[in-house]
Amino acid sequence: MSRVFNFSAGPAAIPEPVLKQAQVELLDFRGTGMSVMEMSHRGKVFTDVAREVVSDFRGLLGIPANYKVLFLQGGGKGEFSIVPLNLLRGKKKADYVNTGHWSAGAIKEASKYCEVNVAASSEVRKFTYIPRQQDWRLSSDAAYVHICTNETIHGVEYFWTPETGQVPLVADASSHILSRPMDVARYGCIYGGAQKNIGPSGLTFVIVREDLLGGAHPWTPSVFDYTQQDNNDWMLNTPPTFAVYLAGLTFKWLAAQGGLAGMERVNVQKAECLYGCIDNSAGFYLNTIAKEDRSRMNVPFFLKDEKLNALFLEESLAAGLAGLKGHKAVGGMRASIYNAVSLEGVQALVDFMNAFAKRHG
Ligand code: PMP
Repeated sequence: MSRVFNFSAGPAAIPEPVLKQAQVELLDFRGTGMSVMEMSHRGKVFTDVAREVVSDFRGLLGIPANYKVLFLQGGGKGEFSIVPLNLLRGKKKADYVNTGHWSAGAIKEASKYCEVNVAASSEVRKFTYIPRQQDWRLSSDAAYVHICTNETIHGVEYFWTPETGQVPLVADASSHILSRPMDVARYGCIYGGAQKNIGPSGLTFVIVREDLLGGAHPWTPSVFDYTQQDNNDWMLNTPPTFAVYLAGLTFKWLAAQGGLAGMERVNVQKAECLYGCIDNSAGFYLNTIAKEDRSRMNVPFFLKDEKLNALFLEESLAAGLAGLKGHKAVGGMRASIYNAVSLEGVQALVDFMNAFAKRHG
């Protein structure tokens, strides 16, 4: 089968040039006569790869020098589960804003370790918007304020950065990291899983301000302790070396696309194209998210006539458009249009949607 346009939410599309380069280098990496996944993570060849990966990630996001970068394991869930262990630093309370499935997951995990103050929630309106900061009720004694900057399932995204004063802002940016520039200095910690915009699953990233290190709960497993991992160049245990290598190729591909500013320009065009199709379908398709909070990465939508869902999925797949089934928590359809999904791919989806609506409208 020829390659499809892949709209999966994660694991998700990886840029084709990245896959092709990995294929070329698979049997003989940098003249070693072995693949990158067969060599020691402590040897010079791989430690050079790891250093480059960190430095390219820093360059893309403009990460200030007083922030540490770690590449760990345990997925996005693992990451939000270890935030309280690392960042409570002896405090008993943390503020969380609930904007959807993944914020709620983070709240559930954090509740095991501390009192969680839900400072704001959009649950009563089915997570269709981001509560504005004037409506948040932050506590004065919180160790940190946690947000999910892009809700992969509900399709809401922050296009503004909350102001939390001296209290560190912590963000799960799993599903929109590297889709546009981000002012890292406004955050205490940004983390996420790699399997949307960075590479394969099995890898996570943590960007953490260095003054927040050193206070992990004593029971924190050492491999999940930011400080211990930082002291060991995030190789306290064996990293997922192939995933790290693929992340590195993706970072180089991103730089060649004009970096994050270049990527953002295309991502804006893609989102306008797809939301435009939905909004101009005379109600055949529906997206219920507040316009200013609509995610540029994850676009959930419904067919007005839900009886057409199965046919929509069948015909779209036959047209080379894969991964459009919505998450069961929301239903309907979802198109994830991450960095590796081209404008051409979104145009093909929109052409299909328009033709489908014409046939069945
Ligand atoms: N946070 C967000 C925003 C996510 O989208 C996901 C997964 N889609 C997770 C956390 C959980 O990631 P994982 O499945 O890697 O644990």
